Amino acid sequence: LADPLVREPLLAELARLEDRSWTAEPTFPHRDPGEIAPITSPQDTSRQVGTRRDATAVEVAEAIGRAEAIQPGWNALGGEKRALLLEAAADAFEAHTAEFISLCQREAGKTLVDAVLELREAVDFLRFYAGEARRLFAAPMPLPGPTGEENRLTLAGRGVFASISPWNFPLAIFIGPAAAALAAGNTVIAKPAEQTPLIAALAVRLCHEAGIPEEVFQLLPGAGEVGQTITSDVRIAGVAFTGSTQTAQAINRSLAARDAPIATLVAETGGQNAMIVDSSALPEQVTRDVVASAFQSAGQRCSALRVLYVQDDVADAMIEMIKGAFAALVIGDPLAIDTDVGPVIDEDARSQLERHVARRQTEGRPVWRRGLPEQARGGCFVAPTIIEIASIRDLARENFGPVLHVARFAAGELEQVIADINATGYGLTLGLHSRIAETRRTVERLARVGNLYVNRNQIGAVVESQPFGGEGLSGTGPKAGGPHYVLRFATERVVCIDTT
Ligand code: ADP
Repeated sequence: LADPLVREPLLAELARLEDRSWTAEPTFPHRDPGEIAPITSPQDTSRQVGTRRDATAVEVAEAIGRAEAIQPGWNALGGEKRALLLEAAADAFEAHTAEFISLCQREAGKTLVDAVLELREAVDFLRFYAGEARRLFAAPMPLPGPTGEENRLTLAGRGVFASISPWNFPLAIFIGPAAAALAAGNTVIAKPAEQTPLIAALAVRLCHEAGIPEEVFQLLPGAGEVGQTITSDVRIAGVAFTGSTQTAQAINRSLAARDAPIATLVAETGGQNAMIVDSSALPEQVTRDVVASAFQSAGQRCSALRVLYVQDDVADAMIEMIKGAFAALVIGDPLAIDTDVGPVIDEDARSQLERHVARRQTEGRPVWRRGLPEQARGGCFVAPTIIEIASIRDLARENFGPVLHVARFAAGELEQVIADINATGYGLTLGLHSRIAETRRTVERLARVGNLYVNRNQIGAVVESQPFGGEGLSGTGPKAGGPHYVLRFATERVVCIDTT
């Protein structure tokens, strides 16, 4: 984006796309249509980006039937051919960069930088899982066996997988788990979040144009009820879910209540992410990393920093510096190129965050807030906020937005702080800024967390080299983008042949 030869044509293309209207409907729409809902921009709720046509119960049932019928054929295609199709989809995504960025901005309220990063991640997922299809599914693995026997192990898809995804990464987390399931030889029924079906519909259409059969990867737009209809169907062999812990638990119950084979649930859920900063940390680095971790993407990343623990002897100076950088954040229209913090996803999210801040103010906690620009009026904007609290124990739940809590700790309290963080039950990301090796060892040994980020920001992961995912209330594992993820979507078959 720094290069005008890249930036200027992209901005011109985005301007051309600004008034385009998009639609999302089931891949095989029925004649008798379900409910049609408008999709509006988080930055200006009076602007419609397109419409969502919800899948009916009949469409869900028929989609699963089609997916089930074609799954053995998709599985038999083998890892190499599936890899080529996923790579063709990655190419098609790259060829539609401007459309994806436009939708990330208009449908999800993402800044330009976030939208570019999101498309990059989606393409990386497609290519990574294509590689996994080749690595794990291209040929059977020979097993050692007794003399006169030929033994081998093959991996196969489990059947029909449902992918139920959230709005905060409407493209990357929509396509990532679906690509993993497809790579393993499953067919996929995908239900995007109700707030962001349009970008998902474009992704599915491009996968079809790249050669993945329509029956193999079907879109079913709708809200939670459509998700519930899907997960209560006995033909679903597994669910890849990203969203709240409560919904993951509801899906788990729904799958368990079926008179059906036990389904696989791969869930990536919430967090209560902390960062610990001790007196040895470098203040400039801490400031940069705290502001990015808490406020980039308007704090709407699963990995985002919620509770900053600063050692008391440096706390005043450190908090002052953080407030300085916080005061320089540019808040406003995500379509403007220099915006750092855009809106939150919708009115529900906005009012929930405002209630949280108001409660802390009533309790007498010190609260610092940024003002909102005039143009933020018609949208779902939350003024970035810093709140002082005593401990992570003061927070009942994750606050998914641009709100950072700050607490202090004394030199001898490190182990207690880690115990308090572990006691939330979540275990997604933890940040640590310390130049003391002993402190780093202690945190690494005691923290029950999926991703530990030391002396850097915690805004996320690079597919493959930094697999991402949590434990405890934060998810089932294994990590997306890691070497074990695709195996959760597969079943093992062993063949033993007497060759004498
Ligand atoms: P968030 O807090 O990120 O909005 P949710 O857990 O509510 O997270 O939503 C994540 C995804 O789960 C969305 O696609 C949503 O429609 C879907 N969903 C919500 N409730 C259910 C349910 N009971 N069964 C299946 N899917 C659901």
